Amino acid sequence: MSLDNPMSFKPYAPKKTEEYMSPGQHKHFEEILQTWKESLLEEMNRTMSHMQDESANFPDPMDRASQEEEFSLELRTRDRERKLIKKIDDSLEAIKNGEYGYCESCGADIGLRRLEARPTASMCIDCKTLDEIKEKQLYS
Ligand SMILES: [Zn+2]
Repeated sequence: MSLDNPMSFKPYAPKKTEEYMSPGQHKHFEEILQTWKESLLEEMNRTMSHMQDESANFPDPMDRASQEEEFSLELRTRDRERKLIKKIDDSLEAIKNGEYGYCESCGADIGLRRLEARPTASMCIDCKTLDEIKEKQLYS
């Protein structure tokens, strides 16, 4: 399982007359986000205990260097996971107050399929694309 691809689930099939972000859809995404968060927390715990296991002293400086390198890689991964969990929490909060699924920039529906591909998305694809273009111009 990769960070960007949370899990396998059944795509939501809305009824013909169903409104966007109906209670059923809220539940669907809440479950996806919760499962994703739990698996991330599990992964983080695994990494932590792995690091504790291996933090025994290495008398050989070469061993120590490669261990430190490995640790810093794991710390970066954990940092990414922590940020992701924060985003998941934000999304869960948005479900609670009814803001989930709408673009925070223009208010448009983000869309079920896009949210299933990226459950923490807070912008519609148009705004996101625009945002990325702006970002690129800013940092190039
Ligand atoms: Zn938008």
